[in-house]
Amino acid sequence: MINPLRGMKDLTFEESKRFNFIIDTATTIAKRYGYGYIETPILEDTALFKRSVGDSSDIVTKEMYQFEDKGGNDVCMRPEGTAGVVRSFIHAKLDRQPIKQKFYYYGAMFRYERPQKGRLREFHQFGCESFGEASVYEDFTIITMISQIFEALGIGFDLKINSLGCSNCMPTYRDNLVGFLTEIKDELCSDCNRRIDTNPIRVLDCKNENCQNLLKNSPKLIDNLCDECDIDFKKLTTLLDSANIDYEVDTNLVRGLDYYNKTAFEFVSNNIGSQSAIAGGGRYDKLVEYLDGKATPAVGFAIGIERIMELVNMPKINRDGIYMGAMTDDAIEKILALATKKRKDTKVTIEYNSKGFKSHMKGVDKANARYALLIGEDELTNGTIWLKDLDTKEEKIIPIEDFQ
Ligand SMILES: [Zn+2]
Ligand SMILES: [Zn+2]
Repeated sequence: MINPLRGMKDLTFEESKRFNFIIDTATTIAKRYGYGYIETPILEDTALFKRSVGDSSDIVTKEMYQFEDKGGNDVCMRPEGTAGVVRSFIHAKLDRQPIKQKFYYYGAMFRYERPQKGRLREFHQFGCESFGEASVYEDFTIITMISQIFEALGIGFDLKINSLGCSNCMPTYRDNLVGFLTEIKDELCSDCNRRIDTNPIRVLDCKNENCQNLLKNSPKLIDNLCDECDIDFKKLTTLLDSANIDYEVDTNLVRGLDYYNKTAFEFVSNNIGSQSAIAGGGRYDKLVEYLDGKATPAVGFAIGIERIMELVNMPKINRDGIYMGAMTDDAIEKILALATKKRKDTKVTIEYNSKGFKSHMKGVDKANARYALLIGEDELTNGTIWLKDLDTKEEKIIPIEDFQ
C-alpha cells in the first residue's frame, strides 16, 4: 500500500464538502467586490520567490520544494500565491494599462515544514490581489470583504492591524530600531541576533517570550509615521469604527520586506488551540516594481483554508434529488432509463442491484434523497412506479408515463 506523503492529505467526503463551501462562499463575495478569477502555475522559476518572498525568509531558505527539472531549470512549487499573480500581472503588461485589476485565486501551496495540526506541507489558500488602487479606501474595502467571508462561513475572528510606513518614514525608523536592538543584543535570542543585520523589522515578531518582554520598550513605527502614512492609518481606523468592525492595533504585526508598506492586517481565531492566523494581508505598493514591472500600488490577502476547515458552520443540507431502485431484476433497465431521463435536471442516485424494500429505504437515507422511486413486480406488471416524498411522507403509485 502506498501512503500519501508526510504533510499531504486527501480531500474527501465531509472535508471536501467543507472545502467547496469555503471556496464557493469566498468566490461569491469576491465577485461582488469586482474580482475575477486568475490561475497561475504551481511551478515557477525559483528566482520569483527568492526575489518576492525574500532571500533571507524561512520560507525561501528552509521550506521551499525546490528542484532542478529535466531541462536543468531551477524551479519551485509555489509556497504562496501573491508572487505568481504579480508575475502574471507584469507578464501580461497589465502594469502598462491605466485600468485597475482585481484578481481572486485559490489552490494548493507547498512548504516543506514540520507538519502539525492545521499546518500541512501541501495546503490551500484563497486570496485576492487588487492592483492600481492607492487609496486607503481599498484597504478598508478588502478588510470588510474578508469580514463578510468569515461572517458567511460562521467564523468568529479578531482583527489586528498595523502600519508598516513607507519609504519616507520606514528607513529612519529602522535605523532607530537597529540602535535599540544593538543595545540589548546580548539578551536577545540567536534568531533575533541574526535578524538585526539581515531583517531587523522581523525581530519585532519573534515568538520568544524573553525577546517579547525586551521589545516592549522598543520604538514603535506607529508613533513615527510620516504625515501621509499617519493620515491614512487614522482614516482606516475611523472607517473600521464606523463599520463596527473591531480591531486591535498590533505594532508587532510586521512583514519585514521593503515592498510591504502602510496597511498590514491579520485575522486570528482563538478557536484552534493557541491564537492563530486564519487570514493575512496588506499593502505591497513596491512589489510590482521590484519584479521589474511599472510601479503599481497593490493590496491583497490570503485565507488559509485548512486553518478554517473545522471552524466553518456548515449550512443544514436538505434532502435533495431522487433515489431509484428495483425490487426485481427485470425492472432494473426500466430504472436505468428513468434515471438517464431525469438526470437532465435532477440529482439521481441509482442502485443497480434489485433489493428488498427496507434495504432500498436505507439507501434513500444514505443518499439524503428527497424522493424514493421503486419498481417491484406489481409495478412492473401494471406499468407503474411507487413514489414517496420523504419530506411530506406522501406515497403514491402512478403510471410510469406520468412520471416527469
Ligand atoms: Zn510614511
Ligand atoms: Zn528572539
